[in-house]
Amino acid sequence: MTDDILEEVKAILEYGPICDHCLGRMFGKRSFGLNNDERGRSLRIALSLKEDIPFSPEKEECWICSNLFDRISLWTERVAAEFDGIEFKTMLMGCRVPPLMAESEEMIWSDLELQSPEPLKAEFNREVGKAVTAATGKEVNFRRPDVVALCDISAETVDVQINPLYIYGRYCKYERGIPQTRWHCRICRGEGCERCNFTGKMYQDSVEELIGRPATAICEAEDAILHGAGREDIDARMLGDGRPFVLEVVRPLKRSISLDKLEDAINTSAKDRVSVTLDHVSDRHEVESIKSGKAHKKYSILVKTDSNLTLNEMCTAVNSLKGVTIGQRTPERVSHRRADKVRERRVIDIECTGVEDDNYKIEVTGEAGLYIKELISGDHGRTIPSLTEKLGVPAYVTSLDVVMVEGVISEDNKSQRHR
Ligand SMILES: [Zn+2]
Ligand SMILES: [Zn+2]
Repeated sequence: MTDDILEEVKAILEYGPICDHCLGRMFGKRSFGLNNDERGRSLRIALSLKEDIPFSPEKEECWICSNLFDRISLWTERVAAEFDGIEFKTMLMGCRVPPLMAESEEMIWSDLELQSPEPLKAEFNREVGKAVTAATGKEVNFRRPDVVALCDISAETVDVQINPLYIYGRYCKYERGIPQTRWHCRICRGEGCERCNFTGKMYQDSVEELIGRPATAICEAEDAILHGAGREDIDARMLGDGRPFVLEVVRPLKRSISLDKLEDAINTSAKDRVSVTLDHVSDRHEVESIKSGKAHKKYSILVKTDSNLTLNEMCTAVNSLKGVTIGQRTPERVSHRRADKVRERRVIDIECTGVEDDNYKIEVTGEAGLYIKELISGDHGRTIPSLTEKLGVPAYVTSLDVVMVEGVISEDNKSQRHR
């Protein structure tokens, strides 16, 4: 075994001057508790002893890496300089290796059929990471780093990617006419025109902006994107416990913020229009689970009919829909946006709770995706059964509010709120 490895070392040295790091890396996955430069130096010593020749360290520039590893402290300074002004706890190093460097080492691997080499990229990232940790106290995290430093070895530059901060919460919307997310103006598509008063927007405010603006300011971020668990119609309020959402704060310079303070700032600035409760610092996975949209929703609606009915007649018809699976052909109002097909959704619970200003008050809990307006109107026979069908007279929704969205908190984040 020892003979084999020293034969390989001898063969590697014949390619040209090579530093201890690059020599050691050729056997980088052998043994533990050694740095590659220790591996390289030991092998060089072992070969001198075996051949009984004078030992001399490599004095010429390494033909593979041009002595890149002598400049780790320089790269560390560059990374630390780019991190300056960014608040974070965890980081990850990445690098762009010049193709010629990668090719040189790969040539030796394949020529000599080496079994356990480590790529230059891996050693560089590890060594810079260790040095940056020593200099800044920040830890390397492979799974969910706050920031990623990308060293471009030939350009001698460092790019820092700041990962988003995700915040899970629920929002209520008390004012009708506010869309959930920003809507570009239909005329100018966001560029600004007379129609939109050069704002580029259809509506001045959105839930996304009312929540996002204070978050962007407090986190010194570039932007904030709202990922909601479904969305209510623009003219529907969102009441009760509120709708779950994850706010994605883009490129935050500050991320160890107090959720209480942020919650207060949002609720103060969005006064009477939108309110939030913030629960915990979230992650990208929770955005996916929240957007899968499998939450049941409870609505409070007002319904009018074309002829007078007793409350008793209404209650009987309403109760007959409880627990019933409804066949809904894509509603006329959304047929231009969605494929025309029949979907089956269940009415989990429905109850008529009284009369208010000539309207019947109804509370209905539906499976995700149940179209409520059509459940009442029947949508000209496209929704079966419907309240209109059960009553025998046309009925329609005059007001609709979402009062509850079942939470969809992922297992990972059920833990207590982080403060
Ligand atoms: Zn080298
Ligand atoms: Zn416009």
